[in-house]
Amino acid sequence: MEDCIFCKIIAGQIPCSRVYEDEKVLAFLDINPISEGHTLVIPKAHAENLWEIHEEDLTAVHMASKKIIRAMKQVLNPEGVACLQLNGRGVNQVVMHYHLHLIPRTKGSEPLPVSSWELKPGNQEAIARLAEKIAANLG
Ligand SMILES: [Zn+2]
Repeated sequence: MEDCIFCKIIAGQIPCSRVYEDEKVLAFLDINPISEGHTLVIPKAHAENLWEIHEEDLTAVHMASKKIIRAMKQVLNPEGVACLQLNGRGVNQVVMHYHLHLIPRTKGSEPLPVSSWELKPGNQEAIARLAEKIAANLG
């Protein structure tokens, strides 16, 4: 896609700090990291979000993520790694090319805001009803 910054990175028109690449996937460090080692894993085929991405590209992104966090463990020894993926401007997706964030949290660092929310029990009946509705609409 012409105006897509990630497509430009894939095409080599914009530089990146690459950590992984294969036929279907590119991964590089985020230039605005939430934490040290914050990595973006993207499919080379442009797709805006989870609704659009082809299954084989989605699989490739997640298989690559597994390899990358294994290496991250060696290099950063994180307490954990958050895998975050946003779909749509309404949830602050900024670049409209599917990307999976790999966000490591190292020992002693601030808790990640994306992975530390308060647990409040919901309405269990409403949860059960909604699960049924969504399940009934699976293609
Ligand atoms: Zn793109």
